[in-house]
Amino acid sequence: MKILLVAAEAVPFAKTGGLADVAGVLPKFLAELGHDVRLVMPRYASIDRGTLTPVGGPLGVPMGVIGTLWGEVLEGRLPGCEVPVWFLEYDRFFDRPHPYTEPDGQGFADNDNRFVFLSRGALEAARMLGFAPDVVHVNDWHTAAVPVLLNTAYRHDPLLGGAASVLTIHNMQYQGEFYPGLMDVLDVGWQHFNHLELERNNQVNLLKGGLYHATLLNSVSPTYARELRTPAYGYGLDGVARDRAWALRGILNGTDYDEWNPATDRHLPANYDVDDMAGKAVCKAALQRELGLPVRAEVPVLGLVSRLVHQKGIDLLLDVLPELLSWDVQVVLLGSGERWAHDAVEAMGRQGHRNFAFRLRYDNGLAHRIEAGSDLYLMPSRFEPCGLNQLYSLRYGTPPIVHAVGGLQDTVDNYDAPHHRGTGFKCYGLTYGALRDTIGWAVHTWYNRHDDYRGMQARGMRQRFTWGHAARAYESLYREAVHLKRG
Ligand code: ADP
Repeated sequence: MKILLVAAEAVPFAKTGGLADVAGVLPKFLAELGHDVRLVMPRYASIDRGTLTPVGGPLGVPMGVIGTLWGEVLEGRLPGCEVPVWFLEYDRFFDRPHPYTEPDGQGFADNDNRFVFLSRGALEAARMLGFAPDVVHVNDWHTAAVPVLLNTAYRHDPLLGGAASVLTIHNMQYQGEFYPGLMDVLDVGWQHFNHLELERNNQVNLLKGGLYHATLLNSVSPTYARELRTPAYGYGLDGVARDRAWALRGILNGTDYDEWNPATDRHLPANYDVDDMAGKAVCKAALQRELGLPVRAEVPVLGLVSRLVHQKGIDLLLDVLPELLSWDVQVVLLGSGERWAHDAVEAMGRQGHRNFAFRLRYDNGLAHRIEAGSDLYLMPSRFEPCGLNQLYSLRYGTPPIVHAVGGLQDTVDNYDAPHHRGTGFKCYGLTYGALRDTIGWAVHTWYNRHDDYRGMQARGMRQRFTWGHAARAYESLYREAVHLKRG
């Protein structure tokens, strides 16, 4: 199949979340399955122009009332494979340090035009370069206009008119909702500004348009794909998700086990694996030392690495923390994010708990050392489309304590004490009491049911969530979409 993958971010070029992993890693595995893949993304300021080659001449992108904007396509390659990446260059929109936001975290005021440009520009680039995709795979609201455009403005295009589309929802909370005038930039006709397609609350909602128009949809875990159809998780678009339930699938993300493997991890003071766990004790002592905690093998270390935002349940965890710290446990937290969360963590720090250590920054090396040096991992997310850290912690022999939602529900097996089964601890319902009790149960298990705890570690470490597996699932999704499109 010929596959055109369009995304606002992709590793290793730009990353703010899991979307970047899917966009940057999946193409490589699709190419290995024999598909002809092109990845399209913006050329942000962080991407060195010098390593790229201009292809195909000036790129005209029709932007309705704004007129045609002229950019360029610069071609690069995904590292470690031959997949071409087409970077859309239009400096007025993309020559900025962050993909979406000002330094203060505010979204750029022109994000509407920027991502309509990316959506339309990707299709124009394919036209200009003579690439006729069987399927166009787009991701989140930034590129959700593509399925709308394919069904409208490009419907009779000789090259693109026959292409099926797949929209992946990485996070339903972000929808790309803008003023109605954006319809005149999209330029697909005001008849599509209706409650089924692009309109929500009298605004243009790009994600909604994509949900309605894409041939098939998926999210990044089967459970999240079901949750999206409920008011609690659909963020106002659950109605569209319900209408299109038949078209909505769930495909778990893979894990990069080259980067996250305790047997080879270069960020760790000692390596280990399921058959020889001695190195994990070394990692624990080193972590305690690094963070200024008492070096004690006989207390459990509970680790957390996260964006500090409401979604991750940080506020509730901080509520529970004082009670938790009254037990003999240590808690280590690494994160960065919203101001209120930084303030709350710092306030907790000032209370002088000697068993609590935190670092408020983004630090990949420390993230690895926390995964390795902790005994239990905390992930009380309110919702979690897929989640990566619980997958890392499984691989690192650090049983995760999770809220049983989304990808957490799908990837963690709850500890089943009578049958000595499970890979982690699930909290059903996110309340103070439920979270405290689940953490309490995990800590009790660590202290008093050592063989069961060891068994959980081993089972988790032997599990694999691979991109090869995910790529085969995407392959069948694409085939089905092509089939549907061709009738
Ligand atoms: P999300 O994409 O919603 O942030 P995921 O669990 O899917 O959550 O992925 C988060 C990724 O970002 C993980 O690889 C995690 O290790 C990393 N990460 C998050 N915060 C930090 C931080 N402060 N320092 C280092 N890595 C972090």
